[in-house]
Amino acid sequence: MKSEQLQILSKKYPHLFNQLTDTENGNITSVTQFSEAVKQLIKLCGDDPERDGLLDTPFRVLKAFLEYTEGYNKDPKIHLEKTFDIHHKGLILIKDIEFYSLCEHHFSPFFGVAHIGYIPKEKITGLSKMGRLVEGYAKRFQVQERLTTQIAEAIEEVLDPEGTIVVVEAKHMCMCSRGIKKANTVTTTSSLLGIYENRPDLRAEFYSLIKTQGSK
Ligand SMILES: [Zn+2]
Repeated sequence: MKSEQLQILSKKYPHLFNQLTDTENGNITSVTQFSEAVKQLIKLCGDDPERDGLLDTPFRVLKAFLEYTEGYNKDPKIHLEKTFDIHHKGLILIKDIEFYSLCEHHFSPFFGVAHIGYIPKEKITGLSKMGRLVEGYAKRFQVQERLTTQIAEAIEEVLDPEGTIVVVEAKHMCMCSRGIKKANTVTTTSSLLGIYENRPDLRAEFYSLIKTQGSK
């Protein structure tokens, strides 16, 4: 990898390169090894890593992966910590929160929307914080099931509501492009906590609201 490329990375991700000195930093060794590994991968797939269009690909791949996994840099629960004391006893629903994640089994994208509902006891968080929460867990090596559970458990832990319900709908590129080639398959996962575990009427309210206009 070229030194100017390393500089770009160390500027954007200082925590990875915080000991940039004359003596070699462990991460620089890793970056070089990664670069070589991507070249090997290109070769294995049958192309020439030295041809023009592929020369900077190891750098671009690393940069992309650091972006896909930015969620590791911060505990997503932090986004929920600013709360308001608003007296509201009913459902708060935030639907169609878009997200992009990376399947940990194939490193291929999966993406879609998350719908979050909770019935507060005392604490309410800002609506935009839910988007950050979803993004914080999505930008990791993930599986959809864990993503769904982590979002629900974070809300449960920080906001301590009467109940939390999270539904995630996603398309997986590893299902679209490999083997079975089912381009339009949507996988739905849900996580129900607290009051939602044994109140089918509240679940029905949530499901009917996420299906109304504006939902995909
Ligand atoms: Zn996959």
